[in-house]
Amino acid sequence: MDFLKNHPLAPYTTLKIGGPADYFINPKTPEEFIKVLSEAINFSERSTPEGTPSTEKIELRSGLPITILGNGSNVLISDSGIRGFVIKNSSQSIEILDKNHSPNLKPPTPSISTHRTENEPDKYLDFTKIDYDESDCPTSLVKLSSGTPLPYTINYLINQGLTGLQWFAYIPGTIGGAVYFNIHGGTHHFSEYVDSIEVFDLSTSHLLLLTSSQLSWDYDQSYFQSHPELVITSVTLKLYQGDSSRAKLTALAWIQQKTKVQPMNSAGSVFKNPSLKDCLALWGEQKSSGWIIDHELNWKGKSLGGAQISPIHANFIVNTGSATATDYYTLAKSIQAEVLKRFNLKLDMEVKLLGEFH
Ligand SMILES: Cc1cc2nc3c(=O)[nH]c(=O)nc-3n(C[C@H](O)[C@H](O)[C@H](O)COP(=O)(O)OP(=O)(O)OC[C@H]3O[C@@H](n4cnc5c(N)ncnc54)[C@H](O)[C@@H]3O)c2cc1C
Repeated sequence: MDFLKNHPLAPYTTLKIGGPADYFINPKTPEEFIKVLSEAINFSERSTPEGTPSTEKIELRSGLPITILGNGSNVLISDSGIRGFVIKNSSQSIEILDKNHSPNLKPPTPSISTHRTENEPDKYLDFTKIDYDESDCPTSLVKLSSGTPLPYTINYLINQGLTGLQWFAYIPGTIGGAVYFNIHGGTHHFSEYVDSIEVFDLSTSHLLLLTSSQLSWDYDQSYFQSHPELVITSVTLKLYQGDSSRAKLTALAWIQQKTKVQPMNSAGSVFKNPSLKDCLALWGEQKSSGWIIDHELNWKGKSLGGAQISPIHANFIVNTGSATATDYYTLAKSIQAEVLKRFNLKLDMEVKLLGEFH
């Protein structure tokens, strides 16, 4: 495997936006992923006398930044791209470790508020009709490589009789991205199912095993956002030996609802939902960012260059075909500024910015 120089990144994102990586590589197995991480740390490039670039490893650490890309479904990559290494993680594996792990203990993490009630359930997502509790079911442990696609994982495991992930159907990320953002589906967070996480520490080149209870989790937040030196290599989940027919129907119902209102040519929700406290003071009840942009700003459909506030969901900005990162970013910033001006409320971006933005 070679690092590719000046490699375009837009094709590796759902938005199809973004400039090149200085160095790019796409490991396909867990072993390759770990090898590439070590190589990137020790990588150096020298020019041959003729000026043709060649690569060789040296003892010194490269000092170049390393960025991990999962499925690129929650990132906006700048038009000038990303400096240093970008490692697109396609390492895939699913191993059911213990089919009869234990009678279940309640989920390891306390429940986390998703800062939302659906303001218009008929128009958007009516989760209350499909939600149910499985926490009395016995559990099994499953180990997944971090580059395994979430939609495939959900389907595969339900077919093996293991449930719990049906709430995350239609989310187009990898297992690593799901942990990094502690994704939510309805009232559920991914952290409910995490037992332990194996990480590669870029500062020491060692693999570490972290248990879920050692880590802080919150709405759209994980320990890894404040520890960029830790790369998630594999995740062990504790899943239910639940009702797989019901889980399948739930995943299907969720996909059918979400397909109507969540466009794929996006990076998911642009903004996190504001806190209940802020919403109570302003509107007397929880509101979503989408509701604010739609009903208070009336900005659905507004566009800038090739970026558009989706006509079907105001908290999604889509690439209509020719959007640049600057178009997307400027549109998002104008929403933020307008909400701040009118309500003195700061909407926080959920989409992760990679590269330089001004
Ligand atoms: C149509 C659509 C619907 C969506 N619906 C939802 C939803 O319902 N709920 C929700 O929570 N999200 C949703 N999302 C957002 C997104 O899909 C999730 O956040 C997803 O988990 C991101 O995973 P990814 O692999 O694409 O991560 P990427 O976008 O590739 O990366 C996101 C961040 O995670 C880091 N990262 C990725 N892998 C690793 C790793 N192995 N180790 C360390 N860091 C890593 C990256 O460096 C980056 O900072 C949606 C997105 C779209 C486009």
